[in-house]
Amino acid sequence: MSNFIVSKVAVLGAGVMGAQIAAHCANADVPVLLFDLAGKDEPNGIVRKALDGLKKLEPSPLAAKDRVAYIDAANYDQHLDQLKGCDLIIEAIAEKMEWKEDLYRKIAPHVAPHAIIASNTSGLSINHLASVLPEALRTRFCGIHFFNPPRYMHLVELIATRQTGAALLDNLESWLVTRLGKGIVRAKDTPNFVANRVGVFSILAVMHHTQRLGLGFDEVDALTGPKIGRPKSATYRTADVVGLDTMAHVIKTMQDTLPNDPWHGYYAAPVWLAALIGKGALGQKTRCGIFRKAGKEIQVLDLAVQDYRAATGAVAPEVDAILKIKNPAEKFAALRASPHPQAQFMWAIFRDVFHYCAYHLADIADNARDIDFAMRWGFGWSQGPFETWQSAGWKAVAAAVKADIDAGKAMCNAPLPDWVFELEGVHAATGSYSAADKVLKGRSQLPVYQRQIFPEQVFGAAQIAPAKAGETLFENAGVRLWCLPVVDAGIAILSFKTRMHTLGRDVIVGLRQAIAYAEQHCQGVVIWHEAPFAVGANLQEIAQAVEAGQFDLLDKFVAEFQQASMTLKYAKVPVVAAVSGMALGGGCEFPMHCARRVLALESYIGLVEAGVGLIPAGGGCKEFALRAARNAARTANNVPFDFIQPVFTTIAMANVSKSALNARELGFADEADVVIFNPDELLYVALHQARGLAETGYQPPLPARNIPVCGRTGIATLEMMLVNMKEGGMISAHDYVVAKAAATALCGGDIEAGSLVDENWLLTVERKLFIELLKNEKTQARIVHMLETGKPLRN
Ligand code: NAD
Repeated sequence: MSNFIVSKVAVLGAGVMGAQIAAHCANADVPVLLFDLAGKDEPNGIVRKALDGLKKLEPSPLAAKDRVAYIDAANYDQHLDQLKGCDLIIEAIAEKMEWKEDLYRKIAPHVAPHAIIASNTSGLSINHLASVLPEALRTRFCGIHFFNPPRYMHLVELIATRQTGAALLDNLESWLVTRLGKGIVRAKDTPNFVANRVGVFSILAVMHHTQRLGLGFDEVDALTGPKIGRPKSATYRTADVVGLDTMAHVIKTMQDTLPNDPWHGYYAAPVWLAALIGKGALGQKTRCGIFRKAGKEIQVLDLAVQDYRAATGAVAPEVDAILKIKNPAEKFAALRASPHPQAQFMWAIFRDVFHYCAYHLADIADNARDIDFAMRWGFGWSQGPFETWQSAGWKAVAAAVKADIDAGKAMCNAPLPDWVFELEGVHAATGSYSAADKVLKGRSQLPVYQRQIFPEQVFGAAQIAPAKAGETLFENAGVRLWCLPVVDAGIAILSFKTRMHTLGRDVIVGLRQAIAYAEQHCQGVVIWHEAPFAVGANLQEIAQAVEAGQFDLLDKFVAEFQQASMTLKYAKVPVVAAVSGMALGGGCEFPMHCARRVLALESYIGLVEAGVGLIPAGGGCKEFALRAARNAARTANNVPFDFIQPVFTTIAMANVSKSALNARELGFADEADVVIFNPDELLYVALHQARGLAETGYQPPLPARNIPVCGRTGIATLEMMLVNMKEGGMISAHDYVVAKAAATALCGGDIEAGSLVDENWLLTVERKLFIELLKNEKTQARIVHMLETGKPLRN
């Protein structure tokens, strides 16, 4: 197979989706030509506005602000000839068949002979769209259905036409997986494809049962959110966020295109939804929908009184107790048995989605795993419908669904397909059931998936969990050092075992022992475990010691913490940190001390100690002081302070990176560090990085000496900034104290500017300041507050 390289992408349509897809390509170092209609006054006006919009959107589609510079604005009147330089063309214009047809005719003469053309349509027939293109282009056309917001939603559905070339789809899939970090489901060309077909039905089922049982919309959101492993916005808030008009549009697509579906009668916007749309209450974008805000109060539409009331709906304690049952079989049995309307509601919405998915599996998806992944990745469900069913006991649930269908309780009386009663479940170690082909289908064998050592799995598809995989080399209560001989027996993997990977004594001690072991027996180490990387020091342990007044012990602990960082830095074999998710406090300092970092794009890295009234003391301040001196020495002026000031702000404000690219900007990662887009590839890439370092003659850095620091002049300059902020009411008195300590640590202590120090000096300074802060009552109050509420206290 030849190399498949996408050097440039054209995105047609700079609306909600097009602009954000362009942003994500730019995040991935792929330059983009973003097209829209030519504006009357300014030809590229529409695109320019869209690009400005990208900078304001939250959560940001741009992984770093500079990325927007890689998107060039274009319009169909002036720039069609530039399409010939694009390897991939993604069409994302408004959902109207005639408009798309017109555009396809317009672009066809300009498309490069090798280019792929793909439509982001959510509901139109891909085969029909292909038919508009000249014959020669049809084999290179397919559907590429991103989910909103495209940077954050993992799912992309790829839809082949009858003519799409197989190799082309494989190439595109591989590119989407590695370059853009996406999870792919190959969908059939059926209305709304897989995720929206099931997801919209699920919403319709929720709406139906809400009304049937007379529940409040707020009550239903309390039931259908995190309590069942779904996003916080649950059902009705999600509808408000998506837009009630958009929701009605998608429902209408189902009504128009699925006339023979047994559930067709339900494919209609409920009367109340149509009424809201009629009044212009479209949800979040009009600030009024199913919910609205009145002053500080969140209000919800109450159908019984046809007006808004305070949204206070909650899950009844007895139903809550059922939802908390760990064993899914017992949980479902209890829901079915309970007469409480909320429990009846819960069982009904699951039952009808199970029924719907089983009935339609053969038509809408290749296999059951695809539906489950589509719902996880496209709708943020922690489990898809089939795995939920299977985990609750396939046969028992099948019998219960059948009984309800027979009794006329289900939304529709179409019988469950025979295979439901022939199987023990749809997911097995060897694959997932394909109702169309009546076999278990294994995972895709595309080479790109070999980069996923522990790919995401659906329930029932057995895989050894990373914590039990490979060969253990060393272990204590905090860490496990292990290796995967099938990948690379010589590179050890160091995994933390604590909850949220907090860094307590066991981790600190274990880490140093593990590195010592690796120095004897391995060629390199990768610190890897599933996200989060680490949420910082174990505050509980610290709080207990503070309460007992054990400050000497704490000093010793911090010194050990610092030594753990130094162990990573000066290890005789390369240590690579594989970071994904949160890497906070000590969880940021450890990677900073490693030979290299491999960062998943969605890495949220920061020195957040100020939030609990402390400063980084695991070598974080030391490392920044050192780097400031080193960076300054490379400039003509040689002023370390120039490099201290931005870092000081980052630490004093406890700023956390919004992406791996942003972590580089904040100084938590270097240019040489590797950013990857698919977190499932993190371990693979990190192992190869460690191997590469080892094979290219890795030698630890020489201990830094004669480090010039900013000293008391630097501290005074930073303090002036703080005085102004305090007087302006921007920071509290204690913020001032904490920030001054950070300034002191970053400037190497209260000594002459330009004094030459070593790493131990800097470590001692930050450690002493840390212990002093720990003795401060306001810091102690911040720690207690964080432990109790999980939120920082600004005292
Ligand atoms: P949008 O309304 O935000 O943007 C549509 C863009 O198309 C606009 O920039 C507009 O200027 C342009 N346009 C309008 N008429 C045109 C014409 N005749 N010729 C060329 N361009 C024209 O729409 P969107 O939400 O970004 O959706 C775009 C596509 O993506 C649709 O096919 C939609 O179904 C699909 N989609 C949307 C979402 C979503 O959540 N919004 C999710 C997945 C897929």
